[in-house]
Amino acid sequence: MGNSSFSLDDILRTLTADSAPELARALGGGRIQCLACAHLCRVSEGHSGACRVRFVEKGALRRPRGYVAAVACDPIEKKPFFTRFRGGTP
Ligand code: SF4
Repeated sequence: MGNSSFSLDDILRTLTADSAPELARALGGGRIQCLACAHLCRVSEGHSGACRVRFVEKGALRRPRGYVAAVACDPIEKKPFFTRFRGGTP
């Protein structure tokens, strides 16, 4: 066994792409403002925003790409939505 170890953050940072240009505003001094959500984070080189998934690397805002963050299986029918068909069971 090797002695190398990687954190989940190390792995996820390899699964990224540049953010859409309309969602990144250069502020000068190497800082970029992310416009992807209401936090409007001002992110410096090597740091991430409040979400911890968008970060600045080599002067570019990076965003997640190529993996699924969550998977859930929900039934169609839940209270108070008794049935999706009017008048009872299909
Ligand atoms: S870095 Fe994350 S938390 Fe901050 S504005 Fe962008 S998406 Fe929102």
